[in-house]
Amino acid sequence: MTGASDSYPSDNLYFYVELCVMSNKIVDLLHKAELRITRPRRDVLKILVESGDQAISSSDIEHTLSGIDRITLYRILKTFEESGLIHSVADGSGKTKYALCSHECTGGEHHDDHLHFYCRICDTTTCLDKVRLPSVKLPVEYTVEEKRFVIAGICKDCHN
Ligand SMILES: [Zn+2]
Ligand SMILES: [Zn+2]
Ligand SMILES: [Zn+2]
Repeated sequence: MTGASDSYPSDNLYFYVELCVMSNKIVDLLHKAELRITRPRRDVLKILVESGDQAISSSDIEHTLSGIDRITLYRILKTFEESGLIHSVADGSGKTKYALCSHECTGGEHHDDHLHFYCRICDTTTCLDKVRLPSVKLPVEYTVEEKRFVIAGICKDCHN
């Protein structure tokens, strides 16, 4: 790895001016996760915040942020996931998608025990926070590390 940084060069002044008016929510989230605020982190997190309960793939984020390179984006998503800001969803579509975590998530410990719903018509994946995953009783020698539970079907928008 060369000394690649995840800041864009040459627009720091603009960035700091913009920082003052950017959404408090994004700053708060980065502070809570004890992450330094950089422009690419801010931009990626903004997209995830705006996408709400809908999980979004890295290729969609890359497409929206045309200036970001794939390795930087990959590194940011990994950092966010390790910091308890976002969780990944494997919905069977072949793409890993990412969604904002609940408040209880912290670095190294996720509590996103909710159902993920994959819509076969519009290809969206939604965090159904109110639908909690059942606890599963395993034989004593087995330890749960994560639960992946996806239901595929037709979402409320596509029903209409
Ligand atoms: Zn989480
Ligand atoms: Zn749909
Ligand atoms: Zn989720």
